[in-house]
Amino acid sequence: MEWCVSMPKIELHAHLNGSIRDSTLLELTKALIGKGVMNFSEVEHIILKYNRSLKEVFKLFDLIHILTTDHNTVTRITREVIEDFASENVVYLELRTTPKKNDSVGMSKHSYVEAVLKGLRSITSVDVDFIPHCEDSKTLFTPAPVINGHVRKKIFVRLLLSIDRRETTEAAMETVKLALEMRPYGVVGIDLSGNPSIGDWTTYLPALKFAREQGLYVTLHCGELPNSKEIKNMLDFRPQRIGHACFFEDEHWRQLKSSNIPVEICLTSNVRTMTVPSIDVHHFAHLYNAKHPLALCTDDSGVFSTCLSKEYKIAADSFGLGRREMFELSRNAVEHIFADSKVKEDLRKIFNSVAKKYG
Ligand code: 5GP
Repeated sequence: MEWCVSMPKIELHAHLNGSIRDSTLLELTKALIGKGVMNFSEVEHIILKYNRSLKEVFKLFDLIHILTTDHNTVTRITREVIEDFASENVVYLELRTTPKKNDSVGMSKHSYVEAVLKGLRSITSVDVDFIPHCEDSKTLFTPAPVINGHVRKKIFVRLLLSIDRRETTEAAMETVKLALEMRPYGVVGIDLSGNPSIGDWTTYLPALKFAREQGLYVTLHCGELPNSKEIKNMLDFRPQRIGHACFFEDEHWRQLKSSNIPVEICLTSNVRTMTVPSIDVHHFAHLYNAKHPLALCTDDSGVFSTCLSKEYKIAADSFGLGRREMFELSRNAVEHIFADSKVKEDLRKIFNSVAKKYG
């Protein structure tokens, strides 16, 4: 596991609220119980359950959102999540989150994203690069200062705003416009996520098309359920990446491979939610052997008790891959990030500078 931790890694599919620390989730739950807003017996089975179906995961998200949707908590969890990724040598993180309204605390989608940005700015324990095209911003590939013998960790962070499948076309469009407004602060794209058994993806198509026309990158949760028509239509749309790809049929694999759309692979999430029956039959092996563009990702590190180093270890152990192969897998993910070419170049240098260790 050690080399999986020390190896530089790229995280491209992490949901903010799904990456919440266990300790923070419990602390927030206890606080609401203390205020009499919640009764532990009502939520115990949702919080403490280990293996959750996809349906149960969305119940947990509803609970997490009750606990986290105020400005200070959004700021806090953003800070914690980025610190956690940086601590395991994730050097580039694309963090996604669904901007939410919460009238009871005066929260708009705009102020939600402001709270996320405040979280990014509040981090002092590691260096965070999150504003692209900023002339005076230092790039990540400057010599890291050594304090008490420890090299200070640095991480690039870019944001994706998610459209939830419960939303209307108008609400989805509002999120895209917000993403455009927030582009100078590191928002690089749009994600379509939320319970895949809800909604018809054509509802969000106008917003997704608009996003793409305006130069935002688009990634879609695709094939989390057996819905052949939706999978085909999503691939026809040609997003810049897709997440999951669990219930693909032969024609979908052919279409995916010919379009070369990179896939965000979430091993633990897929096995835990039973969208893949077991790790040994996970489509990672099929895509890896076909040299299809891939990135190993956590999805929801808090909800699934994982981290990116663990996902690399699981892939190495389950598919018989060595350090060198895992390093190359991590390095290749640089090519699928949504940040600009300058960031890519800096990341390539980081990987090149340690490549010998994994050769
Ligand atoms: P948030 O956007 O609130 O920061 O992160 C949690 C949200 O991400 C969930 O409510 C859900 O909309 C989305 N999400 C997290 N994990 C998954 C997943 O595995 N599949 C899908 N479709 N959506 C997810």
